[in-house]
Amino acid sequence: MIAIDAPLSLPKGLCCLEESCSCQPAAEGKGRDCERKLTKQGIGLFRTTKKSIIKAMVYRGIGLKTELEAMGYEVIEVYPYASKVRLFGKNIPKKTTPAGLAFLKQRICQLLPDITACIDGVNHDMCDAAIAAYTAYLCSRGKTELCGEAEEGTIYLPFLDRVTHDH
Ligand SMILES: [Zn+2]
Repeated sequence: MIAIDAPLSLPKGLCCLEESCSCQPAAEGKGRDCERKLTKQGIGLFRTTKKSIIKAMVYRGIGLKTELEAMGYEVIEVYPYASKVRLFGKNIPKKTTPAGLAFLKQRICQLLPDITACIDGVNHDMCDAAIAAYTAYLCSRGKTELCGEAEEGTIYLPFLDRVTHDH
């Protein structure tokens, strides 16, 4: 199973993200259902629209998914920040600060003890990659849940085992 940290689908109604094309999103809100749901939970992200500043990354993610699936791999979309909120709670220091990086490294070593030996040279992008891979691991063990409408593309999140479960 391969986890990719990028949108792997387009909003319903869109065939592309080109302003020159006449395709229009079917839903009223901006982006995909999974993105609107995460935004409502206070989890910020780039929404997939024709005005997206990560358009190239969206196309690249969708292309990679298609290629990897053709090779027989199962590909899932993940969002490491949302995974981190699920795993560590909302009060996560910013990953671009030294305190934020130290926090992440410490938490990742708890989740993935084998990484401890090589954690020194790890930057925040590598931390996100580790969280993405860990989310795929949880998915393979049935410990994730889906955010978003299936036909529009879903994001896999670590299962939140709490009474105050909020969709
Ligand atoms: Zn189009």
